[in-house]
Parts: sequence; structure tokens; C-alpha cells
Amino acid sequence: MTNLGGTAMALDPETFDALIETVRRFVAERLRPLEEQVAEEDEVPGEIVREMREMGLFGLSIPEEFGGLGLTMSEEVRIALELGRTTPAFRSTFGTNVGIGSQGLVMAGSDDQKAEWLPRIASGEIVTSFALTEPGAGSDSASVQTRAVKDGDVYRLTGTKRFITNADKASLFTVMARTGGEGAHGVSAFLVPADLPGVSVGRPEKKMGQQGAHVCDVNFDGAPVPAANRLGAEGEGFKIAMRVLDRGRLHISAVCVGIAERLIADAVAYARERRQFGKPLADFQLIQAMIADSKTEAMAARALVLEAAALKDSGRPITLEAAAAKYFASEMVGRVADRAVQIFGGAGYIADYGIERLYRDVRLFRIYEGTSQIQQLVIARETIKAGG
Ligand SMILES: Cc1cc2nc3c(=O)[nH]c(=O)nc-3n(C[C@H](O)[C@H](O)[C@H](O)COP(=O)(O)OP(=O)(O)OC[C@H]3O[C@@H](n4cnc5c(N)ncnc54)[C@H](O)[C@@H]3O)c2cc1C
Repeated sequence: MTNLGGTAMALDPETFDALIETVRRFVAERLRPLEEQVAEEDEVPGEIVREMREMGLFGLSIPEEFGGLGLTMSEEVRIALELGRTTPAFRSTFGTNVGIGSQGLVMAGSDDQKAEWLPRIASGEIVTSFALTEPGAGSDSASVQTRAVKDGDVYRLTGTKRFITNADKASLFTVMARTGGEGAHGVSAFLVPADLPGVSVGRPEKKMGQQGAHVCDVNFDGAPVPAANRLGAEGEGFKIAMRVLDRGRLHISAVCVGIAERLIADAVAYARERRQFGKPLADFQLIQAMIADSKTEAMAARALVLEAAALKDSGRPITLEAAAAKYFASEMVGRVADRAVQIFGGAGYIADYGIERLYRDVRLFRIYEGTSQIQQLVIARETIKAGG
């Protein structure tokens, strides 16, 4: 497998099948038994992180020349589908290295920047985070107020980033900061090492779900970022961030489909086992309707994700398709989780069965990497622009 000008070549089918099988077994045999422990302790065990490194999971999307697996988007989403079959916090452990934390560098980094950072990101030696959101700039991400002011051969970075995934473990942040005037064109992207003076990370927030994955504030107080750490030209940062998110949205959509498939399997197993009125729940047509709706929607989302990934691999822009996949898949998994709770009845509400945990976990997918409303706006904008 080689990487030509940023376009990954597919693995040969045998190698890829072996990789999928390894991930499938890892999820089933190593991760699923630890779901409750991770939720209770709010931490993925160190030995699991080590195994993830050894399997190459931190470098799924990083070009082979920098030590990653250099998967195509179609291959990456198929791996993400498998990873969806367990607590999503496991995927988050390396999710930023594979997606939003590394892809700005892969897409817009100079040769020197790539050589300096990508091998360590691919191996999982370091964790990366993507820092766009701020206390005053969420959906309106082009309004970021963090400032990067040129001062000789550094930019002095000042501001606060909010809800930054893996910030407590990150050695490197991709930070979007204002170098120019208001709006998207005034934003530049920077590679900011966590150990620079003036960089500090807040305590992990308490969250509704996805325990084991942490988000924190990141503060910059005049941090001197070498000018050589700017990604792309001044003013290109917002464009880079949006391209990173297009890609990230597809990956998240695949995770949503994987979790939906897991929830359907759990609900079907329960419906076949649990008896009421002298019959298994699965015999009741009102239960069957919920299973049918969930299955149909999960299949539709899977098809949408795979088609959008293939389109990306063909080199075409996927802004519309990624937004549509994220919108549909994240809303879909919310409905599927809700029906799974219903099929489990009282047990669906009780922690021991694990369904309520997944129900809480999936709520996030409609919010981060662009809320459902933002996806709707993107889909409408792109559709209207294209004349339908
Ligand atoms: C667990 C978690 C992890 C995260 N990880 C990261 C990360 O690693 N890096 C990072 O940069 N960010 C991260 N985020 C931030 C996340 O991307 C934002 O929370 C999200 O984009 C929404 O921004 P907001 O929270 O400010 O909500 P707001 O923008 O304030 O939105 C509030 C509500 O208003 C709606 N709304 C806003 N504008 C419009 C509009 N124009 N039309 C209609 N409705 C609108 C929204 O859809 C939403 O329903 C994370 C968030 C969480 C919770």
C-alpha cells in the first residue's frame, strides 16, 4: 500500500480482511468485557491503550510513509463500524489521532511539520487534540476569539478553547486562532505543543455519557507558538478546519451505524429470550415493528456512509454527503437507542443491562463535530448552491 499525493491506495483485500477480523476480535474479546469498568472508572485501562498502539489503531488514517496504515476512507469507515460495537469511549482514545487531531497536519502540513509529528501520532506515542470550540464560539465557529499575534518568529497565542476531546492527554493541539479581521478569513491554524509556556489544561468535565473519554478547557496565555508551526497560510485555518470536519463527520457516522447494529443485536437477543403472555417478546408485532424500523434505518445509514466514503476516495468533495451522513446516522442511532430501551422495558432503564449507558453515550453524536441543525444548514446550502 502506498500513498500518492495524499490519496491513499486500498490495502489488498486479504490484508484488509485480516485487519477487520483483528479489530472485530479485539472489540468482542478485549473491549466489551471492560465496558462497565471503563464507565465506572472514567478511564480506559493503560494495557488496552498499549494494545491499541500495537495494533496500529492510532495511525489508521496516517500515510504509510509516516508509519500509519494509510487506510482509504472506505476502509477507515469499515473499521469505525466495527469499533461502534462497543462503548464509544474506546474509539475516542485514538479517535483524535486518526481524525480531527491529525488530519489538518496530513492535509495542510509542510514536509517538515509532517516528518516531525506524524510518526509519533501514528504510533500513539503522542495524543493530539483539535481545538476549535470556545466559550463564545460553538456552532458559529468562524467567530473564534482566541488571538495569535505575530511577535518576531513566534505568534503569541491567547484565549480559551472549550470541550476539547483528549486535551488532558494531548501533547499537541491543532488550534484555530484569529490572526486577521473578523470572520472565517481571519482564522489561521497552528500546531501547538502542550508543553509550551502559557498553555494549561483544565480538569475533565463531568459528562452525560461516554465516560472514559475526557473533554477539558485549554487556556493559552501568551503562549509563544513558533511561526514555523502555522498550518498553511495565514487566513486558511477555517478552511482547513472545515475540511478536517468533513472527514471526521464520515468517521462519526460509521461509529453511529456500528452502535445501532450493536443495539439492534442486543434488543433482538433480549426479545427472543424474554417471555411475556406465554411468548417471547419477539413474537409481538409491536416489538417487531420497532426492530424493523431500527434495522431499516441502520441499513440506510450504512449505505449512505459507504457511498460517501467511496465518493471521498474518488477525490470528489464530500461536504454535502458527509453532513447528510452525520445528520442521518446520528439522529438514527438516537432513535434506535430509544427503541432498544423500550424493548428492554424496565431493564432498559437499569444500569446493569448496559442499554441505558449506550442511550446516554449516543446523545453526543447529534452535538459534536457540528450539531444536527448545523448539518441541516450545510445540506440545504450545498443543495441550493447546486440547484437541487
Ligand atoms: C463531549 C464533547 C466533545 C467535544 N470535542 C470537541 C473537540 O475535540 N474540539 C472542539 O473544537 N470542539 C469539541 N466539542 C464542541 C462541540 O463541537 C460543540 O459543543 C458543538 O459544535 C456545538 O456548539 P455549542 O456547544 O457552543 O452549542 P451552540 O452553538 O451554542 O448551539 C446550541 C443550540 O443552538 C443550535 N444552533 C446554533 N446555531 C444555530 C443556527 N444557526 N440555526 C439553528 N440552530 C442553531 C445548535 O444546533 C444547538 O442545538 C465537543 C463537545 C462535547 C460535548
